[in-house]
Amino acid sequence: MAITVDQNTCIGCGACVSLCPNGFKLNDQGKSETINQGDIDCAKNAAESCPVQSIKVD
Ligand code: SF4
Repeated sequence: MAITVDQNTCIGCGACVSLCPNGFKLNDQGKSETINQGDIDCAKNAAESCPVQSIKVD
C-alpha cells in the first residue's frame, strides 16, 4: 500500500493533517504531503474527508 497526495489538486485545506497529524504535513507550498506510510486506516479516513479527492491509498 502507498499513500500519496496529488500536489496538483490539493488545496491545502489541512483536513488530512488534522485527522492524521502523524501521516501528513503541509509543505512549503501549502500542500499536504505524506510523512508516514504506516497508518493506512487513518490515511483512508483522510482520503474520504479530502474535499478534492487528492489522497490516494492503493
Ligand atoms: S484534505 Fe486534501 S485538499 Fe486538504 S490538505 Fe489534505 S490532501 Fe490537500
